[in-house]
Amino acid sequence: MTSPSYALVLDLAGKRVVVVGGGPVAARRATSLVTSDAQVEIVAPWLCEELASLVADRRVVWHARDYRIGDVDGAWLVHTATGDRATDDAVASAAESARIWCVRADDATVSAAWTPAVARGADGVLVAVSGGGDPRRSRAIRDAVAAALDTGELPVRATRSRVRSGPGTVHLVGGGPGDVGLLTVRGRRLLAHTDVVVVDRLAPRGVLEQLSSDVEVIDCGKTPGHHQLTQDQINEVIVERALRGLDVVRLKGGDPFVLGRGGEEALACHAAGVPVEVVPGVTSAVSVPAAAGIPVTHRGVASSFALVSAHDGVDPIAHAAREHAPTTTLVLLMGVRLLRDSAAALVASGRRPETPVAIIERGWTPGQRTTVGTLADIADLADGRGVESPAVVVVGDVVALRERLGAFSPEVR
Ligand code: SAH
Repeated sequence: MTSPSYALVLDLAGKRVVVVGGGPVAARRATSLVTSDAQVEIVAPWLCEELASLVADRRVVWHARDYRIGDVDGAWLVHTATGDRATDDAVASAAESARIWCVRADDATVSAAWTPAVARGADGVLVAVSGGGDPRRSRAIRDAVAAALDTGELPVRATRSRVRSGPGTVHLVGGGPGDVGLLTVRGRRLLAHTDVVVVDRLAPRGVLEQLSSDVEVIDCGKTPGHHQLTQDQINEVIVERALRGLDVVRLKGGDPFVLGRGGEEALACHAAGVPVEVVPGVTSAVSVPAAAGIPVTHRGVASSFALVSAHDGVDPIAHAAREHAPTTTLVLLMGVRLLRDSAAALVASGRRPETPVAIIERGWTPGQRTTVGTLADIADLADGRGVESPAVVVVGDVVALRERLGAFSPEVR
């Protein structure tokens, strides 16, 4: 059977709406009407706490008495939720004769109008659900839609050209270690809305397949057919697109501010007057060891960890080893190329040659592989296995916990 109902979205700003009833149902209706900027009048001899506070805040006007004839006159819309059938009948029929839409809370089957369950997304997106007279069903559908809006799974990108006076925003989004599931909800939502994505090699690239085909994707990584963009070129491209009025997601691996040059990109945006925001991500420094069953701290084993870049030589590594107690776990990023020198520098700086070391390659991806050794033998083991970047190197007794915990993401041998 087709339903004769007709869906409509109302702009109630400044319009008089009468709510008859002072209980929690009336309060819910009044609250959403107030949010819609309607001019709300409550007719009720008493008020529940929620309505009383709306009155105290002067967000609604209260007529402290029973409903009487003439109350709905001049209203654009009426809600009745008195809990008393006779009163609701009287309100509804008064509204009917005045040709005013009336929503009855007591009985949807005799109501002239219904309020749908509503899910709201960014940018004015609103999804209204009517569950065919079953309010619990409409709420359940609404909740599912709201969750999908939140996670960016729905194609919510604006398709009509937006009139924008100023520049777009650059969002520096941390994508986590590579698995799409480890991208934050906020990051995923921004991807669903953006015009341009500027993506790194180590970002969760699987998410790109889910983007609408008219999103411009600029690849900064060294993938076949693309030359690698320099940091200056990346800064230029994000600023240039934003100044054209486009929204940009700069999708990076891990966290943007952990050895990710996110600060430099933010400064470039500042210098150009482009609004910029950062969305933190799950850093590989902590999450990749976790994938291999290695907590970077563990009660009684290590109460701190130090994160060091091995990109520009071993001095920072030797320095960290001297500065921190032997119980401090050392986590090296970009550590494959100088692994042999790093291990030697750590021993020269006082770490025991038997200190456990783990190298986790491609954490949280199908190619994850872990190599475990000691400072004395890790370089030879890594050579023998052909260990490659990207990999996280963990130095410290926490590595042994892997034997008891096991890997949390499947590994290849
Ligand atoms: N901003 C990033 C780090 C960028 S530096 C973050 O917070 O994670 C790049 C280094 O990160 C790589 O050389 C490697 O050491 C590490 N890395 C990033 N993703 C990785 C992954 N999935 N598996 C192993 N190492 C990874």
